[in-house]
Amino acid sequence: MSESTTPALTGTPDLESFLRAFQALATAASEQQAAGREGTQPVLPVLEAHLGQDPRALAVHTAELPVLRRVDVDIAVEAVVQDAGGGRLLGLGGGEQRAHMSLSEILQHAGIWGGQFPVGPVDYHRAATGPTTTRQMVAFGLHLFTHEDVPVVLVQRRASMRHNGSPILEVLCPDDEVAARLLDRVRAEMDARSSLRGQVVTFSGSPFDPGEAGVVHVPRPRVAREDVVLPAGTLERVERQVLGVARHRDALRAAGQHLKRGVLLYGPPGTGKTHTVRHLVGASAGVTVILLSGQTLQLVAVAAETARALQPALVVLEDCDLVAEERSHDGSGPLLFEVLDALDGLAADADVTFLLTTNRADVLEPALAQRPGRVDLAVEVPLPDAAGRRRLFTLYGGALPFTPAALDAAADATDGMTASFVKEAIRRAVLLAAEAGRAVTDDDLADAVREMTGDAERITRSLLGVGAGLPGADELG
Ligand code: ADP
Repeated sequence: MSESTTPALTGTPDLESFLRAFQALATAASEQQAAGREGTQPVLPVLEAHLGQDPRALAVHTAELPVLRRVDVDIAVEAVVQDAGGGRLLGLGGGEQRAHMSLSEILQHAGIWGGQFPVGPVDYHRAATGPTTTRQMVAFGLHLFTHEDVPVVLVQRRASMRHNGSPILEVLCPDDEVAARLLDRVRAEMDARSSLRGQVVTFSGSPFDPGEAGVVHVPRPRVAREDVVLPAGTLERVERQVLGVARHRDALRAAGQHLKRGVLLYGPPGTGKTHTVRHLVGASAGVTVILLSGQTLQLVAVAAETARALQPALVVLEDCDLVAEERSHDGSGPLLFEVLDALDGLAADADVTFLLTTNRADVLEPALAQRPGRVDLAVEVPLPDAAGRRRLFTLYGGALPFTPAALDAAADATDGMTASFVKEAIRRAVLLAAEAGRAVTDDDLADAVREMTGDAERITRSLLGVGAGLPGADELG
C-alpha cells in the first residue's frame, strides 16, 4: 500500500526532508520488492520522494491550452525541462481510468487504493508538425524536475473529450508562485517555438468532437499574380491591404496607424475568390496562415488567439455566409457575430489579417452593418467581362494550339460565364479531341463552348457558378 507514512519528525529541515525522502524511497522499494516485478511501483511515494512532501497536501495548478497548440505544448514542455537540466519522465498505469480523472483525483485514489496507479510506461502519440514532418509527443506523462530550484511534477496529457479537446498541464509544486511562473514560462515557450509559426494550417475533424480535431499542415500554395485574372486595379487593392500593410508595418506603426485588417472578397461562385486567397497566401512568405471553412469556422476564437500569438498572421474564413445561414434566417447568426467579434478583439497593432470570402454578400451585409469597423475593405470579384474572358481563355488554353481568332470567338460566346467555366471549356475541348483520337483544334474549342452554353447543360453551368448566387453581389461596394 502507498498510504502516506510521514512520521512526526523533529530536527533540522534538511534532516527532516532527507528522512522523509528516504522513508518514501524505502517504502517504494519494499512495495516493489513485495510485488516481485517491475511496473507495480505505486506512484504516490515516488512523487512524495521527489517533492519532499505528501503531494496530496499541495494545490494542483491546471492549464487548459488550445487544441490547436498541442504540438506546441509538447515542444515547450520539453524545452523547459531541458532548460532545468533535465528530469525524469514517468508514465502511469491503471488503465483508462486515469484519463478520466484529474491529477488531484488520481492522487486521492492512489492514496486510498495504492496500487491502482502504479508507475507505468509513458504514453506517446504522433502528430504532424509540417506538411511532411511529424513529432512523437507525450500523450500521458509525469515530468519530475526542478524549476527555480524547487521540485515540481508536471503532468502532461493529450486532449481528451473530458477537457473539450484541450491539452492539459497540471503542476504540483510546494511553491504556488513557482507553479504559476512555470505555466507562464511554458506558454511563452509555446509562442516562441511554435510549430505553427510561418506555416499554413487548417483543421480536420469535427468541432463537435474536438478530441479528434487535428491540425493539418498544407503546403503553401503558389499562384502567380499574372494567373489571377481580375478587373484592372482589383488585385492591387486587395494586395495593398493584405500584403502592403505588412510590408509597411513599421511606417504605419510609427504614424500611429493600426495594422489589423479585415478584407471581404465577394462575388458569384467560380470567379476566383479562393484563387485570389491562394495567391495571397503564396505571396505571404513567413506569415502564419489559418484556413477555416464550413464547420471549422466555429474555431474562429481560438484561431484569432493563435494568430495574435504567432503574428504576422492571416486568418482565412472561407464562405463565411454559410455560418450566417446556419444559425439564423436573417444572416445575423451568432456564429457570424463571433467571427466578427474575434476580429474586434484583437489589439489594433496586431499584424493580423482576416480575409473573408462569400458568394452571398446580401446575407453578410446586414451582419457587417451591425458590427461596423471589422471589415475595412470589401472588394467585388465579379464575373469576367469580354477582355477578362479572353485573358482566361489564353491563360488556360495558351499552351494548346488554338488560334487567337478561336480564343476571341470563345470569349465572345461566353458572356455571363465564370472563370471556372472557361477552365472547364478548355478541358472539354481537349477531351473531345482525345475521344476522337486526334490533337485538339479550334473546332473542339468551339464545340465545347457550344455544348456547355447549350440548353442541355444548364445544371453544369449552375455548378460552375453561372447564373447562381448573384443576388446582392453588387449591393456592397
Ligand atoms: P470562387 O472561390 O470564387 O468560388 P475559385 O477561386 O474556387 O472560385 O475558382 C475555381 C477555379 O477556377 C480556380 O481554382 C481557378 O483555377 C479558376 N479561376 C477562378 N477564377 C479565376 C480568376 N479570376 N483568374 C484565373 N483563374 C480563375
